[in-house]
Amino acid sequence: MTKSLRRRAALSDASDWIASSAPAATATPAARPRAGAARGKAEVFAELSEKIKACRACPLGSTRIQAVPGVGSVDARVMFIGEGPGFDEDHRGEPFVGRSGQLLDKIMESIGLSRASVYIANIVKCHPMVDPSDPEKRGNDRPPSPEEIAACRGWLDTQIRTIAPRFLVTLGAVPARVLLGDATPISKIRGVWRDYDPGGGAAPVRLLPTFHPAALLRNPDLKRDVWTDMKNLKAELARP
Ligand code: SF4
Repeated sequence: MTKSLRRRAALSDASDWIASSAPAATATPAARPRAGAARGKAEVFAELSEKIKACRACPLGSTRIQAVPGVGSVDARVMFIGEGPGFDEDHRGEPFVGRSGQLLDKIMESIGLSRASVYIANIVKCHPMVDPSDPEKRGNDRPPSPEEIAACRGWLDTQIRTIAPRFLVTLGAVPARVLLGDATPISKIRGVWRDYDPGGGAAPVRLLPTFHPAALLRNPDLKRDVWTDMKNLKAELARP
C-alpha cells in the first residue's frame, strides 16, 4: 500500500479522528468558565430558550416534535453553527446527535473542547421536513427554505449577542452562506477567518467556516481540511 493510501485508510471513519490526526487533548481556555459569569446572563439565556421552544413564527413551528434551541454553555468562547435539526434532533431536542454529532464531538475533543464548554446551535430551530405530516418518518429531512431561514434568523443573532463568544464556527455551506451573505462554495471559503456582525450594536465576532461533519462521513478525505481548521481555531483560542 502506498503512503497516501495508508493515510487515506487511516482517516476513513469517525472512530479514528483523534488517533489519526490529533495530539492528546489538552484543556484550552475555552474549557474554563469565564470569571464573573453572571447569573443574570444564564437567566436571560434560559428565557430566550423557552421563547424559542414556544415559537410559531414560521410553518415549521406547527410540524416539529420539539424546537431545538441549542446545547452548551452560556459562557462559551466558541459557537458551532449548523443548518437545522433532523429526525434525531427533533426527537431528542438537542442539535447534532446521531453519527454527525458523534463525529463533531470527536472533532471538538481533538482540540480540548466539549459539548459542555462550547455552544452548538442551528440556523433554524425546527425540523424542516419533506413530508411535514409524518415527523416519525426517517429520511424526511430537507434544507430550510429562505423564508424559514429569514423567520428564524433573529433567534440565532440573539443567542450570539447573549453568549458573546469570541469565535463562531459554521459547519457546512448553508450557515456560511446565511451568516456571511456569500454564496461562494464552502470548499473555497473554508478555513478563512471572516467577521460577523450579529447586530444590535454588538461587537463583530470572528467566524471560521468549515465543512459539516456529514460531509466528512461521505468523503473522509475532507477530514484533513477540517483538522487544519481546528488547529487554526485552537491557536486562536490560545491567544490572550
Ligand atoms: S423554525 Fe424558527 S421561526 Fe420557525 S417556528 Fe421554529 S423557532 Fe420559530
